[in-house]
Amino acid sequence: MLGNFSYSNPTKLYFGEDSLNSLNEELPKYGKNVLLVYGGGSIKKTGLYDKIVKILKNNGKEVFEDAGVMPNPTVEKLYEGCKVAKDNNVDLILAVGGGSVCDYAKAVSVSTYCEEDPWGKYYLRMEDVDNKIIPVGCVLTMVGTGSEMNGGSVITNHAAKLKIGHVFGDNVFPKFSILNPVFTYTLPQYQMVAGFFDIMSHILEQYFSNEDDNTSDYIMESLLKSLIHSSKIAVKNPTDYEARSNIMWTATWALNTLVAKGKSTDWMVHMIGQSVGAYTDATHGMTLSAISLPYYRFIMAYGLQKFKRYAINVWNVSPEGKTDEQIAKEGLDQMEAYMKELALVMSIKDLGVTEDMIEGIAKGSFILEGGYKVLTQDEIVHILKESMI
Ligand code: NAP
Ligand code: FE
Repeated sequence: MLGNFSYSNPTKLYFGEDSLNSLNEELPKYGKNVLLVYGGGSIKKTGLYDKIVKILKNNGKEVFEDAGVMPNPTVEKLYEGCKVAKDNNVDLILAVGGGSVCDYAKAVSVSTYCEEDPWGKYYLRMEDVDNKIIPVGCVLTMVGTGSEMNGGSVITNHAAKLKIGHVFGDNVFPKFSILNPVFTYTLPQYQMVAGFFDIMSHILEQYFSNEDDNTSDYIMESLLKSLIHSSKIAVKNPTDYEARSNIMWTATWALNTLVAKGKSTDWMVHMIGQSVGAYTDATHGMTLSAISLPYYRFIMAYGLQKFKRYAINVWNVSPEGKTDEQIAKEGLDQMEAYMKELALVMSIKDLGVTEDMIEGIAKGSFILEGGYKVLTQDEIVHILKESMI
């Protein structure tokens, strides 16, 4: 049964090989001052930077830059970005990059005119935004987070050893996003597959919750099948447009709020993964891959029917002559084989976690409800230890 909900998504998407031209349609809607936000330089190497600056100039824009957004953007960087945005009276933030750049752009968008410390207000206390919001547009170069069509914004505070995501409302979603699968071809394989697993995790964390019959679970099974199919092709041939374009679209649908409508969700893999990230600064998708199987094997017994359904509907496990438990376990075994085929990181040890960090990582993991079992701190320690093997 679906619960009550309202649904709208304000982000306009432009998808495909020619989608960058659509900037010409969007830019006239905003004032003269544009803050171009990007990461460590991949967009300069690929030539995308030059193309975008040219389009901005042709549209008569004054371009200000905020470069060097790191993967897992930090609160210190956020303060720096707010200053640039405020000093230059920015009318539009144009984020060109992956989830980190898009998340960061949203953080700057809500924080620039925040009258108190935005870390406390928006990340620790998760308050609604009541100050001026600078509009954001995205040109996506890395697939995975869904940040291009959602209100998510994850910021890391290394001093506090916390990595926290605020899921902002419609008013903070990007106004538009440009999705050209070709822009993602230059991603290193490690980042590419990490992004693929981020997508899978977003879907699974919304799927493994509730036991009722609802449309969203059927949609998610289809998204998973498409992702598994295309990612196996993309790891062998990263420039396969068919596979990369399907994955890009799946990533957007995995986390643009649609599939969570009317149902509960279980975000514990992200909660634990983000805490691992706060301690190690590891690649986001790899923190999720290292945590997922120990987590799902731990909670399987509490949500057995859904794990059985997952095995049969997503991994084509034959139920003939098997107990529910055997079927469910086989599904997770197939998932493990798939993850190994993609060369995902399967142990937090490989991300730099040491035994002495385990207690702190468990403490930094926000315990959310919604899953088949509300975890205790000790159970998180157990899951982390299972991932040290
Ligand atoms: P990312 O951190 O944005 O990018 C990872 C790396 O890929 C960077 O070093 C970047 O280099 C490089 N890169 C990006 N595009 C490239 C390209 N086309 N060619 C070559 N290199 C490229 O990765 P991400 O996984 O998309 O974002 C991770 C962040 O998003 C984490 O902080 C995570 O917690 C957060 N997240 C947000 C949501 C949400 O709902 N908003 C959901 C899940 C996770 P350059 O810096 O040089 O460009
Ligand atoms: Fe994620």
